[in-house]
Amino acid sequence: MARRIELRHLSVRYGDLLAVQDVSMTIEPRSVTALIGPSGCGKSTMLRAMNRMLELIPSARVQGRVLLDGTNVYGRAVDPVRVRRSIGMVYQQPNPFPTMSIRDNVLAGVRLSDRRIGRDRADALVESSLRSTNLWEEVSRRLGEPATGLSGGQQRRLCIARAIAVEPEVLLLDEPCSALDPISTATIEGLIGRLREDRTVVIVTHNMQQAARVSERTAFFSTDGPGTPGRLVEYDDTATVFSNPRHQQTEDYITGRLG
Ligand code: ADP
Repeated sequence: MARRIELRHLSVRYGDLLAVQDVSMTIEPRSVTALIGPSGCGKSTMLRAMNRMLELIPSARVQGRVLLDGTNVYGRAVDPVRVRRSIGMVYQQPNPFPTMSIRDNVLAGVRLSDRRIGRDRADALVESSLRSTNLWEEVSRRLGEPATGLSGGQQRRLCIARAIAVEPEVLLLDEPCSALDPISTATIEGLIGRLREDRTVVIVTHNMQQAARVSERTAFFSTDGPGTPGRLVEYDDTATVFSNPRHQQTEDYITGRLG
């Protein structure tokens, strides 16, 4: 089941640095939402705030609310581990675990929450996760081999499979195609299109053509200069943001005059 995420007056600090200021936006289920904007405007920070990964950084402080179908994920009674299971994340340039086989990589996240997962269930999850990421045909005969033997694009899809195996309702992808060749990029973009069918997908991308190709909604973030916090400038249907932006700052960015 896909879920709706609402950010309400979300601000994030790292120590004295205000990195993101007062962001409010609603992210619809069964859609892809792209976060774009110049480097340093807080896109990764926002992703990490959404699933409470930011708490693992000691200097980080979050203000405001993140609602998952109406429930504040920062609520007192909410277990952050459960939040991270519902809202999965694939980091920028993730790596498979080098000492593990392809199969064990897919199951690595699942085993953190379910150590005694049975063989049949594990087999089914490995197959469905690898099918979802278009990898099954490529690796089904070598599941026991080290993941490091895969190509860069395959390794990236394996990391997405590892995140999907936990069956998150929301998937956050930070620059899912960075440093990949055009063919691997196209494969992953196709995959993102299918992941949205029963999930909520949020991607951070520097590639504006990619945002235009894969997302329904685009949020443009920016700052007012070095040392000033990132803020949400414009959030709308992707077609509108790219063809008819409301703000000059958005237009300057998408036409390459900024950032
Ligand atoms: P983006 O993803 O848009 O490039 P980030 O979210 O990575 O932006 O960074 C936003 C701001 O927060 C930047 O000024 C960055 O230097 C700062 N920042 C990010 N991570 C940390 C951290 N772990 N500690 C301190 N400052 C950080």
